[in-house]
Amino acid sequence: MGFPEKLDIPPSILHIAQTLDRAGFEAWCVGGTLRDTLLGQPHSDYDIATSATPDQVQRLFPRTVAVGVKYGTVGVLDQQRALHEVTTFRRDVLTDGRHAVVQYGVSLDEDLARRDFTINAIAYNPLRYEWRDPFRGAEDIAAGLVRAVGDPRQRFEEDFLRILRAIRFAARFDFAIDPPTWEAARAAAAGLRQLSAERVRDEWFKGLQTSRSVRRLVSMWIAAGVARVWLPELEADPRENLPEPPADIRDPVLLTALLIAEPSRALRRLKGSNAQIERARALEEGPTEPGAVDLTTVRRWMSQVGPSADDLTTLWRLRHGTEAPWAAAMTRIRQNKDPLTRSDLAISGSDLLALGVRGPDVGQTLTQLLNRVLEEPSLNNRDGLLALAREMS
Ligand code: ATP
Ligand code: MG
Repeated sequence: MGFPEKLDIPPSILHIAQTLDRAGFEAWCVGGTLRDTLLGQPHSDYDIATSATPDQVQRLFPRTVAVGVKYGTVGVLDQQRALHEVTTFRRDVLTDGRHAVVQYGVSLDEDLARRDFTINAIAYNPLRYEWRDPFRGAEDIAAGLVRAVGDPRQRFEEDFLRILRAIRFAARFDFAIDPPTWEAARAAAAGLRQLSAERVRDEWFKGLQTSRSVRRLVSMWIAAGVARVWLPELEADPRENLPEPPADIRDPVLLTALLIAEPSRALRRLKGSNAQIERARALEEGPTEPGAVDLTTVRRWMSQVGPSADDLTTLWRLRHGTEAPWAAAMTRIRQNKDPLTRSDLAISGSDLLALGVRGPDVGQTLTQLLNRVLEEPSLNNRDGLLALAREMS
């Protein structure tokens, strides 16, 4: 595969490269964005690798942010206050499977050699229109292959997260994993225990969000031995008849709930946020669907499940491969703005107190009123509800 002669580089990136170049430093576009460009896929911002140290970068640009100075990364803000990452050429010394201590003062080729996969180890000089691809990543992109840079066993031992990254890229681009890389990943999988739950969660979520086929992602997590360590539920219950989720649904919490029977437990293990764990718990609790699709039954169900109605409806669609049968009723109920909670009622607790309802009975009366209104939304007006409340007391 040949390289395009010249890439269309955004002005802010060119400006950063020129500033570094004029000060006597090298500046290259690197990383995932080049890979995505060569794949003809939509891509995000170009990362820049430079021979300048983080200090020198911070001195050259008026506005910078210390994004990851420990690893040599400085964020440079452009005129529009957009942030671009500039990372010093580095070599990783003292890797322990989780962290690295980094050393500057190395060449571009050494910097490319510490990168994980050949497809991620390509560089392009935006001022000289020059390509650098010492590990023939462009050929692997053309062949659809994820291949470790250097000795795969050693590379996975240095950083076990790379096992998850290999699988994620394979599932995202529908690439194969080169057999020696795959064998080394499987052999190193026990080391995944050493990773922090947060890093594993980020990879699991990114994998779900970007995979072309979620089923393939899951089968690779199982086959590599990753699932056994972090999400054994995936193995226990392979859900063979599960339809492939449509491409427009990549919500990681929903997909976790689709794949795992007790998603809240799994998300707690992965140190998900409280909001994510709570969403998962609500999905477990249900009821997963209304007992019938008439408006009253659907309103009662929406009232009961509250904010998880949409999640439950999408989950049903994921499980069955077709739209939930009550989806149309739900849309109509929302269009009509039918009352669904006690606070949607046209009267409040203080109205009931004024009517002479005893304090301890107020809550129950409101619930009874809501029950009537869920059956018949047109009852939700002040006079009607006050009359009903009088009858009830
Ligand atoms: P994405 O589209 O997911 O952002 P990416 O390739 O840009 O993909 P990043 O995590 O943003 O991935 O990392 C940028 C680059 O840094 C990678 O392309 C790779 O060269 C290098 N890199 C990132 N993580 C690692 C790692 N764990 N080990 C070695 N190199 C890494
Ligand atoms: Mg990236």
